Amino acid sequence: MPMLLEAKGLRAGYGPTHVLHGLDFLVEDGGVTALLGANGAGKTTTLRAVCGMVKTEGEILLGGENIAGWATEDIARRGLAHVPDGRGTFMELTVEENFRLGAYVRRDREVQADFERMWAWFPRLRQRWKQQAGTLSGGEQQMLAIARALLLRPRLLLLDEPSFGLAPLIVQEIFGIMRRIRAESGVGILLVEQNANLALELADRAYLLETGRIVVSGPAAEIREDEAIRRSYLGY
Ligand code: ATP
Repeated sequence: MPMLLEAKGLRAGYGPTHVLHGLDFLVEDGGVTALLGANGAGKTTTLRAVCGMVKTEGEILLGGENIAGWATEDIARRGLAHVPDGRGTFMELTVEENFRLGAYVRRDREVQADFERMWAWFPRLRQRWKQQAGTLSGGEQQMLAIARALLLRPRLLLLDEPSFGLAPLIVQEIFGIMRRIRAESGVGILLVEQNANLALELADRAYLLETGRIVVSGPAAEIREDEAIRRSYLGY
């Protein structure tokens, strides 16, 4: 498969603090790559680096084009959408209004088709169409954040801990939806997740970060089966 995203020697940090010390990783076109690791390992910083929110060194190739050092909005225009860990929905607005903002770049006829696709993937959001986003459950807010990002029709979706703070059943539901999105949309996903087991089930490829360095990488299925890795790094 052609590479959608290729990071080479990626370094990043905050002011004088270096957080990422030269990461190499890949996301295949239409594939899912999981970034795993303990708190503070640098997973969120990696997503911020890819979307131009922190200063970086090294190469970040999106569809072969080096986007390192570009402004966030220029990177977004090249087809990258980011769902940050704070989720990023407009709490005062309804589900419908959030959808319309997500789709602002689309033309009218496409908007309707895109909304219908989202309703198929996220039936709960359709049921809560006129409800204010701030009154949705945590899981529904996460769904809304993902739907809004998908309405931009990205090539690459960055997802920061979609399971954060959610009950196990709703986490299962969200991962079920993500499996469908993966099968039906062709979007590539770079997923940061604390729930290693679920992330490895969904992903093709995975990287384990420890204090800003990749310590394990490979096909997700192999990492899942590797008992030594599971015990040393994943804690299950
Ligand atoms: P978590 O799961 O806890 O979010 P993470 O793997 O995503 O962990 P990061 O959030 O990328 O880790 O943080 C990596 C390191 O960078 C941490 O030591 C953190 O304290 C530091 N860091 C994160 N954000 C900032 C910031 N805005 N300014 C300075 N240091 C930061």
